[in-house]
Amino acid sequence: MKFVFFGAPGAGKGTMASRASTAFGLQHVSTGEIFRAAMRDGTPLGLRVKEVIESGGLVSDELTIGLVRERLAMPDVSKGWLLDGFPRTIPQAEALASFCPEDYVIDLEVSDEKVVERLSGRSMCRSCGRIYHTTFMPPAKPGFCDDCGGELYTRDDDKETAVRHRLETYREQTSPLVQFYEQRGTLVPINGEADADSVWAVLKGVIEGLLAGRRNGSSD
Ligand code: ADP
Ligand code: ADP
Ligand code: ZN
Repeated sequence: MKFVFFGAPGAGKGTMASRASTAFGLQHVSTGEIFRAAMRDGTPLGLRVKEVIESGGLVSDELTIGLVRERLAMPDVSKGWLLDGFPRTIPQAEALASFCPEDYVIDLEVSDEKVVERLSGRSMCRSCGRIYHTTFMPPAKPGFCDDCGGELYTRDDDKETAVRHRLETYREQTSPLVQFYEQRGTLVPINGEADADSVWAVLKGVIEGLLAGRRNGSSD
């Protein structure tokens, strides 16, 4: 099964996709993580995207589409995938529909207020990418990852001016995808306001239902 995890920056895409990946054995593919790994390693890709990411803008469609297309052709995603952070523009959504159409788009609906609250306390593990929040999901030992002991850091694009730019970018370029997917009939809206365990409980039930529907032959 192929799922897109959709929502504003800070809606909880990464957190929920990571839980769903473990629970359902589907490969988690995050374009943000791919870019951050490239920036961390100082690769040509990383150097090329650093400035636009840190300012809160979007990497070009051409570059991003090419990258995702290659990633989704790899053998580890042949049993299904969870895409987190892609598509973010109509051309990206059209490209995905043409080369590897999604089954469902999980749309995490969260108010602006919550999104700002979540982004302002987010931290991430430098080694494994696990996501934390100073208030809502603190690590057991402050500053260090529960899973791998790696150092936690605040992303440059989670600083205030970049956050404002990212939310504008989301409104202008990404939110029109809701209508695009509604029309394709693949949109699954999920209320993402509650705490992470409550959102996950609902989402897990919804995905189980979708997978069962598929096994019973209601589509494909
Ligand atoms: P968030 O989790 O806050 O939504 P991501 O980790 O998904 O952010 O992405 C971080 C940044 O990487 C984005 O703000 C953007 O600059 C870049 N990026 C990620 N995915 C895409 C994409 N599909 N198209 C263009 N830029 C992207
Ligand atoms: P996205 O990938 O959509 O940008 P993240 O999964 O990185 O969002 O979550 C943004 C921040 O909010 C992180 O610090 C995460 O720990 C926290 N978070 C995620 N989901 C919830 C939730 N349901 N309730 C409270 N905090 C959450
Ligand atoms: Zn870690």
